[in-house]
Amino acid sequence: MKLPGLKTSLVIILFFSFALASFATEKGRPYYEKKGFVLWEIKTEDKVVALTFDDGPHSTYTPQILDLLALYDAKATFFVVGERAEKHPEILLREIEEGHEIANHTYTHPFRISPEQLKKELDKTNKLIYDITGIHSVLYRPVGGSYNEQIINTAVEGGYKVIMWSWHQDTKDWKMPGTKNIIDTVLNGTTPGNIILFHDAGGDRSQTVEALKVILPELKKQGYEFVTVSELINQSHVEVNK
Ligand SMILES: [Zn+2]
Repeated sequence: MKLPGLKTSLVIILFFSFALASFATEKGRPYYEKKGFVLWEIKTEDKVVALTFDDGPHSTYTPQILDLLALYDAKATFFVVGERAEKHPEILLREIEEGHEIANHTYTHPFRISPEQLKKELDKTNKLIYDITGIHSVLYRPVGGSYNEQIINTAVEGGYKVIMWSWHQDTKDWKMPGTKNIIDTVLNGTTPGNIILFHDAGGDRSQTVEALKVILPELKKQGYEFVTVSELINQSHVEVNK
């Protein structure tokens, strides 16, 4: 086989650099944010944050968290796993009754998923949430927060919006890093418009519950309002129109 000449090699290198650069500029976070397909946080000067809880509902931890949220008049968003929601419809009803938002975190919580399976899991969970609460949820958080172009396209084509979280607001509470650690992650990093990530199921979440007992009153004292993700999105629209 004849090796490519210098000119051909240059053309090949240029082609790949261009392809790489256009991929980076067109399909990175700025691209998806601009299109409105994926949300990490919003830009605002208003002291609002969205607390989000993945993997529930859980028969012990979710009610404990709901009690704390009620105590501080905080609204949150619960990214539920369909098969768990099916077992605890009463918790979903309580979440809605108390002003929280329910969103989609797939049906079986698979860490690897094909576009076809994702579509099925999203629609199945969406129908389930609707059957229990009468509300269609269009917000979806990928399992483990891992996404690619296929996942985003599948979600968007199905009418869903992908919701991530502020990168500095990942409490990693699923690893049980210690209550203080969870508290410090949130309180050291909170800025207006953040989306904060917690988990209300999937393991022992007592540290999450204990951390909220400190986080909620402290942020409230600082003047923060706790809103749902949809309220946060609406807030960003108001900002744009100002
Ligand atoms: Zn999860």
